[in-house]
Amino acid sequence: MRNQQATKLIFELSRPGRRAAVLDPPDLPVPEASDCLPAEHLADGPPPLPELAEGDVVRHFVNLSTQNMSVDTHFYPLGSCTMKYNPKRNERLASLPGFAAVHPLQDEATTQGWLRVLYELQQMLGEISGLPGVSLQPAAGAHGELTALMVAAAHFRQRGEARDIVLTADSAHGTNPASAAMVGYETRTVVSGPDGLVDVDDLRAKLDDRVAVFMLTNPNTLGLFDSRIREITSMVHDRGGLIYLDGANMNAILGIVRPGDFGADLMHYNPHKTFSGPHGGGGPGAGPICVREDLARFLPRPIVRRDGDRYFWDEEGEDSIGRVRSFFGNQGILLRAFAYLRTYGGDGLRQVSEDAVLGANYLLSRVRHILDVPHGERCMHEFVATAARLKKERGLSAMDLAKRILDFGFHAPTVYFPLVVEEAVMIEPTETESKETLDAFAEALFRVTEEAVDLVKDAPHTTRISRPDDVAASRRPVIRWTP
Ligand SMILES: *Cc1c(COP(=O)(O)O)cnc(C)c1O
Repeated sequence: MRNQQATKLIFELSRPGRRAAVLDPPDLPVPEASDCLPAEHLADGPPPLPELAEGDVVRHFVNLSTQNMSVDTHFYPLGSCTMKYNPKRNERLASLPGFAAVHPLQDEATTQGWLRVLYELQQMLGEISGLPGVSLQPAAGAHGELTALMVAAAHFRQRGEARDIVLTADSAHGTNPASAAMVGYETRTVVSGPDGLVDVDDLRAKLDDRVAVFMLTNPNTLGLFDSRIREITSMVHDRGGLIYLDGANMNAILGIVRPGDFGADLMHYNPHKTFSGPHGGGGPGAGPICVREDLARFLPRPIVRRDGDRYFWDEEGEDSIGRVRSFFGNQGILLRAFAYLRTYGGDGLRQVSEDAVLGANYLLSRVRHILDVPHGERCMHEFVATAARLKKERGLSAMDLAKRILDFGFHAPTVYFPLVVEEAVMIEPTETESKETLDAFAEALFRVTEEAVDLVKDAPHTTRISRPDDVAASRRPVIRWTP
């Protein structure tokens, strides 16, 4: 079943002199390379590329492509990552030569269509967030966090305030404290109460005039909307601090509530999550940020602006923190987001979020009979179960469940995040899955919890490799092939 050819590197399959195609020698005079280029710029010989027949090259890559799971092949309930279906039409649009072949240094007069797309995307993101200042530059969500904190730092510097602390929630994504540390802030953690929401008393105790920003995720990583959000944001504002919204969970609230209306001052979007851009495997994402009107002057430049019918890159801005990326951002993913937003429109986006919440609650109502779900009777677009009882009673951990579910043809949920839940199993189905898929997943999960312990502990049994040493894979990765 396992294809041996597919385990080999393409370099190992190479045989000297083997060719994909054999062409007749040209019957036109061919100039010597040394007649065209100075000798010091010529290579000593051909590059050491693998030599294979065309069929073997095709098989090699097609087989490799089947060794992983993707949203196109499997249900992918990876909590916090919003692995929704990626409409193929958006892929086709992004590969149109008029978009894909544009050079970033091309004259603006020749890229008016592109600039209009980006301008209108800025407008839409500003509208959905209720925060009108928009920069499309950051290259990922984490980069958006970093950029927005640099904007916040510029704001306090200009006011002459020496604030040096960023508060993060204990259920936050690890990028929140990491971004704060990169901007030079000390971080303090605000704990969650037993209900999984921000413990307002703990926030009050940790809030003082040194606090620059409170970074929060709402709905939070437990899939719960913080019912005291207005009180929380007012408390921070009253002490002169800013609220940063980690927008990774926007899929739950599109067109329903605007972060700017509940008190966020700055936020990022993850268009590769919320707006269906393909992601995973380290591929390009984007992390556009939106800020309150009075903070917009600190945003990175350039920003696309409109003057009558003409669109242009505005590089001006004395207070700007400067560029955070070469050229204009990951435009391919931004174009897909634009196409997604225009396809759904306002009412459609609201429907996206309502369906995401409905799907998650349906699955929650089934999973509750299999695993404990410690926080919340209902959820937003995702929920966090725990395998703690299963571990105590049968010795099966969240990791064992995650590994075994692969054999049933499902990607694993997120495990061991957020840290506030022991043996966490974080499930986010997204709105693009059918009831039948959700039922099949719940049934597979139930079966795994009932199976023989040894069978589950040795899983997965059907994948290319079974259980790699994940510490060694991260600390001592072998990423270079040596002949
Ligand atoms: C994904 C995610 C991030 C980071 O976003 P990237 O685009 O992966 O850099 C931050 N916070 C939360 C809650 C996330 O789920």
